Amino acid sequence: MTVDLPAIAANWASLRDRHRAMGGGETGAAVKADAYGLGAAEVAPALAAAGCRHFFVAHAAEGMAVRAALGPGPTIAVLNGFAPGTDEDAALTPVLNSPGDIAAWAGTGAAAILHIDTGMARLGLSSAETAALAENPSPLAGLNLLCVMTHLACADDPAHPLNSEQAARFAAARARLPAAPFSFANSSGLFLGAPFASGLARPGCALYGLNPTPGRPNPMRPVVRLEVPVLQLREIPAGTPVGYGATWTAPRPSRIATVAAGYADGYLRSLSGHATARFKDRDVPLVGRVSMDLTTFDVTDHPTIAPGSMIELIGPGTAPDDVAARAGTIGYEVLTSLGARYRREYLRAA
Ligand SMILES: *Cc1c(COP(=O)(O)O)cnc(C)c1O
Repeated sequence: MTVDLPAIAANWASLRDRHRAMGGGETGAAVKADAYGLGAAEVAPALAAAGCRHFFVAHAAEGMAVRAALGPGPTIAVLNGFAPGTDEDAALTPVLNSPGDIAAWAGTGAAAILHIDTGMARLGLSSAETAALAENPSPLAGLNLLCVMTHLACADDPAHPLNSEQAARFAAARARLPAAPFSFANSSGLFLGAPFASGLARPGCALYGLNPTPGRPNPMRPVVRLEVPVLQLREIPAGTPVGYGATWTAPRPSRIATVAAGYADGYLRSLSGHATARFKDRDVPLVGRVSMDLTTFDVTDHPTIAPGSMIELIGPGTAPDDVAARAGTIGYEVLTSLGARYRREYLRAA
């Protein structure tokens, strides 16, 4: 598995430039879930070297790992929040998602981010809670409010009416709350135009090469390449079943390559019978079921494939978004499922 750190840095820089051109301020980076499965300890320093000063994780433990990788300086915000009074206080910035979170942190003087919900019904202050806080902002006394954030539910669908509704609700709430910078767009939000610019954008997926504009050409550079070795080749006569459940039967005399990756490596079992891998820029069809540690491909039309040949499961010719579509999921799930058994190589700036 190869992770192209300069490509991640270039993707971040292009999103930063795009945000500025929209009238926005700073651009941070979502590095939660171990930088979407690619390795936050490598990715976060590469982003910091490119100029990123604001990082977002889900859990405090993830935040502490990112802090260890980055050293002091950049803000590391914990989206799921955490309780005050621990070692994390000095290192991390809490996101306050409820009146209870505000009460817990009030008076500590801590730098914090306030999250208001404008259309997801997930985390953040509800509209009633936001209205109550606007009416009586005294719970915010003794807090250093870095920014007020909200999160878009449908940014990957530019035609969805919820996008502009969320922008309007967010603007109305900000007008009533104590003045603070604000934070709005995720990756796809940066492709929705000026109403989605803010003081601090929070892109994630696009940094890692996923397409923030589904249905249109991907403006981001590919980042991940996953190649796995052929362990064994087998010549089988027509009529021979392959794999668990005998779900595929050779329609002609065939050559089957068994490769060393399966669903325990994040090569999703729902790809069974649907995926294609690549060998020397040509498609190689997956046949039969994906097993835990092994997957079988029909290489009858690839006479040069031999034991030890590397088959590309993810790469420029098999984008994570395409693999996801074959598996009935999204690129985020493909990346965050990438297993711990790959030998990971990080490409660095020359
Ligand atoms: C994950 C996340 C992001 C990044 O979203 P992408 O779609 O990956 O760009 C931004 N903000 C919040 C609150 C998130 O949870």
